[in-house]
Amino acid sequence: MNNERIPWDQYFMAQAVLLSLRSTCTRLEVGATLVRDKRIIAGGYNGAVSGDVHCIDEGCYVVDGHCLRTIHAEMNALLQCAKLGVPTEGAEIYVTHFPCLACTKAILQAGIKKIHYLHDYRNDSYAQSLIKQLGASVHQVSLDQKYFAKLLDNSTEEVG
Ligand SMILES: [Zn+2]
Ligand SMILES: [Zn+2]
Repeated sequence: MNNERIPWDQYFMAQAVLLSLRSTCTRLEVGATLVRDKRIIAGGYNGAVSGDVHCIDEGCYVVDGHCLRTIHAEMNALLQCAKLGVPTEGAEIYVTHFPCLACTKAILQAGIKKIHYLHDYRNDSYAQSLIKQLGASVHQVSLDQKYFAKLLDNSTEEVG
């Protein structure tokens, strides 16, 4: 039996993946987790403004190849901090897809210096150069399934 503790990167990225499962946009499911001092301070997924209709019910509102209805996962996580008065300075973000340019700018402006992402997605070159220019860093995480086998294992094993 594998008793190795799950590394932080795997743990926080898994939270972002879990959040993405709540996405209400059918085009792409994205999740984002904000972490400060190894604690989760906020999370978000891409979806409509609270109170608006959902893409999954009404179809996406697509203009120029983008769904305009949704607020991106990263923005939702940052806005949750704004709404509740939680500082983001020095926080890190875990996001399931490489952030778009608008989200990258917001992430950097919020004082976040470390961006962890799971999937490459239309990686924007200006976003990448901004990250470098501002002394922030971006790093790709790949999930190792050995840490997640237990999630679906219903057997109860005694610790020997
Ligand atoms: Zn949509
Ligand atoms: Zn975005």
